[in-house]
Amino acid sequence: MLRVETARRERVKPSGPAHEPPLWDLVGHTPLVPLRLSVDGHAPTVYLKAEWFNPGGSVKDRPAREILRAGLALGALPGRRLLDASSGNTAIAYAMLGAAAAIGVTVCVPANVTTERLALLEAYGADVIETDPLEGTDGAIIRARQLADRWPERFWYADQYGNSANVAAHRRTTGPEIWRQTETRITHLIAGVGTSGTLMGVGQFLKEQEPTVRVIGVQPDAPFHGLEGLKHMATAIVPPIFDPNAADEMIAVTTEAADDAVRWLARERGIFVGWSTGAAVVAARQVIRGLSDADRRDMVMVVVAPDSGQRYLSERDRLMEMR
Ligand code: PMP
Repeated sequence: MLRVETARRERVKPSGPAHEPPLWDLVGHTPLVPLRLSVDGHAPTVYLKAEWFNPGGSVKDRPAREILRAGLALGALPGRRLLDASSGNTAIAYAMLGAAAAIGVTVCVPANVTTERLALLEAYGADVIETDPLEGTDGAIIRARQLADRWPERFWYADQYGNSANVAAHRRTTGPEIWRQTETRITHLIAGVGTSGTLMGVGQFLKEQEPTVRVIGVQPDAPFHGLEGLKHMATAIVPPIFDPNAADEMIAVTTEAADDAVRWLARERGIFVGWSTGAAVVAARQVIRGLSDADRRDMVMVVVAPDSGQRYLSERDRLMEMR
């Protein structure tokens, strides 16, 4: 077992310009939590990168901060409002970080995002534009583009799906943290794909350090799915930042399998996470099953866990249902 940091957070050092709100320095520095998995009688070394420890409650604080910095550097903010489309977590991150820096935030979100997400956006004072739930995040993207075209003097379109700052945030923070926390021994990275910023940024960084690290993406198996935050690439607007060649493998997971994993993690391990983490753990098991005994022994896998199950409490039915 590695001597990784678990309970203790990494010490927070100011990383941005001196004038940034201190709250922004709390982004990142998340713990790596050992996950006891048993696969075909083996106990492989697997860690969750616990991104729900971010101040806004999800991995999306990282790209949101980097994108806000880019908007400030361009001079587009704070004069205009930041505008973007989101499945919820990025919207909350913009709203929280924006409130701390007196930057106005307008977000387009599919109307079926959980009530927790809408309540949080309200709490932070963001303007929320709800879009057709049947169109998912693609509908929100189209609406945000329309608004930005119509009122360029009012809005700065942050475009998390096409903004290189999204990838850069993970190259600069998530990747190096994982590299340090595993004492450079990581062999496998598993991350769900929404904008793909996490997979692209962390994957690029790790492969630069050690080209043999396997980078594995996770996506829903169908266009209509319950894996909030993830995209079905074959039918969705493909994010411009996504490079399919950057992943060694893409694994499709069913909503039902992720449901089971979410319940198992909560009830058997005391780790209550969102559905995209459940899907990533399903993919992790699949990868481990495909390894030889020797590879399983040497393997050090990190599974990115983007958010907590607390963000989905209104979907209680899904949690209670036993299979
Ligand atoms: N899981 C959840 C819960 C998310 O909100 C997101 C972001 N859309 C992801 C996974 C995927 O992260 P990324 O956008 O970096 O691909």
